[in-house]
Amino acid sequence: TRRLLIAGNWKMHGTSGALAFFADPGINRTYAGIDRLICPPATLLRAATEAASATGVMIGGQDCHAQAGGAHTGDVSAEMLADAGASHVIVGHSERRADHGERDATVKAKAEAALRAGLTPIVCVGESRADREAGREFDVVGEQLAGSWPDGGTGDTVVIAYEPVWAIGTGLTASIGDIDAMHAFIREARGGDQSLRILYGGSVKPANSGDILGRPEVDGALIGGASLTAESFAAICLAA
Ligand code: 13P
Repeated sequence: TRRLLIAGNWKMHGTSGALAFFADPGINRTYAGIDRLICPPATLLRAATEAASATGVMIGGQDCHAQAGGAHTGDVSAEMLADAGASHVIVGHSERRADHGERDATVKAKAEAALRAGLTPIVCVGESRADREAGREFDVVGEQLAGSWPDGGTGDTVVIAYEPVWAIGTGLTASIGDIDAMHAFIREARGGDQSLRILYGGSVKPANSGDILGRPEVDGALIGGASLTAESFAAICLAA
């Protein structure tokens, strides 16, 4: 069976004071059978790796460049993330797709860069509200999945995060039925691979995480707002 991965995406939140998160008692305890990951902003990666070292929490990046190095002002490579202590990197988040115009081919190249650097890419897919209202959610997610999956990746080296865009930061979550259906669709699209972990993201919080994480096709969560405090992140881990 697949271990749950409870992953926090801090997005563009946090300066050094945020590292107090890792000193919280709720973070400094063992959780049987789950993996925990926090993806802080790049400026905090190294310090977060150190602050988290005794907690069992893994550290990840939020994005990487497709190349290992070069003239790319402002970008960070997967190799640099690994050097700073990251084990994972989120690629293709809908905010990257929207804010930076990232298309599937770019996301795929970034996921391949992550694998090359020894990181586990967390490849994000998810439909917009308009896609869902038009009944196109499976087409859109299927296309993103096919276009963003890294060559050479397997269910053991890649994680998928299904994040319906309309559920991110809105307080709206997909229904359990919608989550079940999309996660089953994604696994089927990956040939029924039983090792692949498929996370759900979009307004996951302590009050709904138990139900969502209890679904057999849900292998973890990618959490934005509720990962910013140790209290709510720990509550989600406890409910898992
Ligand atoms: P929220 O949990 O704040 O809705 O964000 C979800 C998300 O985008 C995680 O990557």
